[in-house]
Amino acid sequence: MIHRRRILKWGTMGFGSMIITPKIFSTPKKIIMGKKPLVISTWDAGINANKGAWKILREKGRALDAVEAGVMITEAEKDNCCVGLSAYPDRDGHVTLDASIMDEYGNAGSVAFIERIKHPISVARRVMEKTPHVMLAGSGAQQFAVEQGFPLEEDKLSDSAQKAYDEWLKKSEYKPVKNIENTKGQNAFAPNKLSNGSFNHDTIGMIAIDAQGNLSGSCTTSGLAFKMRGRVGDSPIPGAGLYVDNEVGAAVSTGVGEEVIKICGTHTVIEAMRHGMNPEEACKFAVERVIKRNSAEKIKDIQVAFIAIDKNGNYGGYAIQKGFNYAVCYADDYNELIDSKYSL
Ligand code: ASP
Repeated sequence: MIHRRRILKWGTMGFGSMIITPKIFSTPKKIIMGKKPLVISTWDAGINANKGAWKILREKGRALDAVEAGVMITEAEKDNCCVGLSAYPDRDGHVTLDASIMDEYGNAGSVAFIERIKHPISVARRVMEKTPHVMLAGSGAQQFAVEQGFPLEEDKLSDSAQKAYDEWLKKSEYKPVKNIENTKGQNAFAPNKLSNGSFNHDTIGMIAIDAQGNLSGSCTTSGLAFKMRGRVGDSPIPGAGLYVDNEVGAAVSTGVGEEVIKICGTHTVIEAMRHGMNPEEACKFAVERVIKRNSAEKIKDIQVAFIAIDKNGNYGGYAIQKGFNYAVCYADDYNELIDSKYSL
């Protein structure tokens, strides 16, 4: 076995020909040392998204290209409650999207409250690369996207979103519930039951380190379902939903964006790593800050989670509530591809 695994060398065969070994870890206690390249992303949707990123990373491509390509897969899903144009709308019945991206130079681009654009992450990248700005919002972001050649999609809810919205309108209650896969009610984190019986989840946040040791990150979401019109979450805000510092690491968040914004969540994670914490400890540090700011009564209904990679390719995550998971993809010491999921 050892001989066989040793034969599977990165240089000789390329990652594409390697065996994929799915592994499910029940706790995140173990910090995996020094993986490069490596990509991790939030929730179950991250498993598919990582595959898109991995195609680029295995060819020693740039982490920035990987994190864009990876989350584009999720944005294009036809039945995702929480990312892209199939997602659940705001309380006025419109899907509005937030996205951000950061590269290894600390450049950032984002779009907020953008409508009718299939790939907000790519518009965010164009903002970063083609404008002197960091963030464009609303109709201005849409106008920029169209000028850049992005098609304006039909203003129509997906069947699943329409159904959920019709249901929500009956009571019009706005109440975030901590883990969408554990709840069947129609609420701000309303679940979208897939044909295989599982529930799709919220925001996809992806961070990666490439073979050259450079870090990048992306984050894309429809935000909270049935939110107030005009509401913007943490995902498009550098330092809140996503932060990358190539000297230290990368971090991304998911959960109730308002709580993440108030503690500058991912920036807090990066600064904690800068001062010596490992990725899991740093994520825990930020989560504890959210907990400290809220009453015990309020916190029991709030989910906030962070995942992080440091500059050496160590990774970890932490969440307020059980039920959060993230997907991990790297090549092990024998250059065998490991495709895993961590449940917290
Ligand atoms: N953080 C996102 C927001 O508040 C929601 C999520 O992670 O699902 O917009």
